[in-house]
Amino acid sequence: METMLTEKTELHWMVRLNRINRIASYLMLFAILGAHMQTRIPSYSLYAWGLLALQFIVYPHLAYWRACLAPNPRQAELNNLSFDSLFFGIWAAALGFPLWITFTMFISTTINHALYRDPWAMLHSAAAIASGVLLTAIVSGLHFSPATGWPATILCIIGLTLYLVIVANVAYTRNHLLHRTRKQLQFDEQALQKQLQEIHALQQQLSDQANRDGLTGLYNRRYLDSTLERELARCQREGQPLSLILIDLDHFKQINDSYGHPAGDEVLRQLSAMLSQQARSADVACRFGGEEFLLLLPQMPLPAACERAEQWRANFAAAAIIFEQTRIQGTLSAGIASYPEHGSTPQALIHSADRALYRAKTEGRNRVAVFHAEAPP
Ligand code: GH3
Ligand code: MG
Ligand code: MG
Repeated sequence: METMLTEKTELHWMVRLNRINRIASYLMLFAILGAHMQTRIPSYSLYAWGLLALQFIVYPHLAYWRACLAPNPRQAELNNLSFDSLFFGIWAAALGFPLWITFTMFISTTINHALYRDPWAMLHSAAAIASGVLLTAIVSGLHFSPATGWPATILCIIGLTLYLVIVANVAYTRNHLLHRTRKQLQFDEQALQKQLQEIHALQQQLSDQANRDGLTGLYNRRYLDSTLERELARCQREGQPLSLILIDLDHFKQINDSYGHPAGDEVLRQLSAMLSQQARSADVACRFGGEEFLLLLPQMPLPAACERAEQWRANFAAAAIIFEQTRIQGTLSAGIASYPEHGSTPQALIHSADRALYRAKTEGRNRVAVFHAEAPP
């Protein structure tokens, strides 16, 4: 639909270009043939001059309008090229094949065919010329007077030279345009690629932000919910263990009260940094609540999880957090639950880890406790 609209509203470049070229070259031929008739065939009548003017001055405009009004202007212009050859054949034969003029007309119309169609179209042009010659032979018979006078010869040389210059210019312009379009396309493609990369990076950043906690940079609860379900299903499928460590800071309210909320924030950040540095790449460290953290450890059995939790507990207890020249010391408690021992659904495992954490708190804090079914709730 769009192509049809473009073809209708915008004239084909070949029609536009050939309008100028045809008018100019036909004018030149008018001068050449006029000079030839004047010098070599003085007996030619006013009627012959009229025909000459009709063919070489009026006809190019008619050909242009014919192409403009045609449903397919490009095809009409290609037909015009064949008409050029036919007319040249008629004129060459009618004048007795004057050598220079015949050569000029023959070479220009065949090159035109090759230029606008393809090299094989030269045969098409030759056939159209031959048809013109045949028509003349049928109507008035053939005669030969190949000599041309020097005015027509000089005009032929000038005309041919100009024609070749125009052809070279057309070829150059089209090449140049093609080169520029190709360069522009490459440039556009690179710009598009860059924009696409930026969009991908932004999408990545957005989805990352949606899964992360703003204060600590750890994963959030939302991310944990989807990951825990997936990881647990995978471990069940593969017959592998999975452990959860739930961490809660001890007496964190006191830290906030003694050093201020920003100091409390710094403690949360430092613990988060320690957890993510010491976790394996497959582990998921997440901020579970205000000062509670949950570590999801796929393929980790209970004893290894206990060792890990004890290590983190000890490291945190030994570390001093410096905030605005104040030294803050804190401890944490941890509760552990493992698949398959303590539950086989995400809810059951989290509940078991929470019960274990509660026990760690009630047994004195700064310790690690494993879920125990008989332990009081
Ligand atoms: P314990 O867990 O040992 O029983 O005592 P606790 O003092 O830690 O008690 P609780 O868990 O009830 O207190 C949690 C406190 O953590 C309360 C709240 O003000 C604080 N908190 C929660 N989120 C944040 C936060 O993002 N930044 C800061 N600075 N404090 C927070
Ligand atoms: Mg708490
Ligand atoms: Mg606490």
